[in-house]
Amino acid sequence: MRGSSMLESLQTLVLQARPYGEAHRLVTLLTRERGIVRAIAHRAQLQHNQLYAPTQELGRSLLQLRLTGDSLATVTQGTLLDNYTELRVDMEKLVYSSAVMELVLNVDRSGGRVSSVDLFDDVIAGLDRMRQSLSPRFVLAHLQLSLLPCFGVAVGISDCAHCGAKLERSTGFSFKSGGFVCADCAVRSAELRLITLVPGVWRVMRQMTERRIGQTGRVSLRPETEEQISALLTVCLRDYAGVSLRSQRVAEQLKGLYDQPLERNQECAEKERLGDA
Ligand SMILES: [Zn+2]
Repeated sequence: MRGSSMLESLQTLVLQARPYGEAHRLVTLLTRERGIVRAIAHRAQLQHNQLYAPTQELGRSLLQLRLTGDSLATVTQGTLLDNYTELRVDMEKLVYSSAVMELVLNVDRSGGRVSSVDLFDDVIAGLDRMRQSLSPRFVLAHLQLSLLPCFGVAVGISDCAHCGAKLERSTGFSFKSGGFVCADCAVRSAELRLITLVPGVWRVMRQMTERRIGQTGRVSLRPETEEQISALLTVCLRDYAGVSLRSQRVAEQLKGLYDQPLERNQECAEKERLGDA
């Protein structure tokens, strides 16, 4: 395609939008047909411009792009299909949506091979599930688990990560062996750097690997189960793939803030003082 260009209409999710010059916008798009595409949208920073809405971050749009080989594409036309209002007005959901988009940008950086159709469909399904009030932390965890292979990480769930025995249940996760371990291996806790599992975590994670986020129905997890699943996946991504999501840290901080009982906040607030110099 060197020297020539072609126009294509693509289904996109705008992962990132940055001002460029005085009026232009640089966008990073997740497209269903071509994976990640970077493009410039001329004059899209101007509110009356027809590209202003369809190139906003966290918007699903049908964009017409002029593609020119390896260089930056150009957005020539756009129609906004969904701007996820329900996610934008809820601070927790908004921060988790950002974490999902950050995760996808990391998949791209890692060079991991993944079908663009599957990635696009899973991310869109995840955002839809967040909107339908599925826990945003669970949605992120499900996407983290399904994308682990893209980062070259394989977490053993069906077989013991240490001895290879078939697992019927598991009570421990070994960071040394990179997966769940059987009851026999679980006694070697210190040697295998074992985390003792909250009951239910292994079973739920196995179910998560068996279906995609769009195929998951109603989810009812105890907070401690969801918390440990989220923590395990976060540590796996960090330790095995070097990926740490800034938005997820913000989300956890927000959660900590909301989860503090009001009386305790009040009690702490009354002790706050600034001393005199
Ligand atoms: Zn074992």
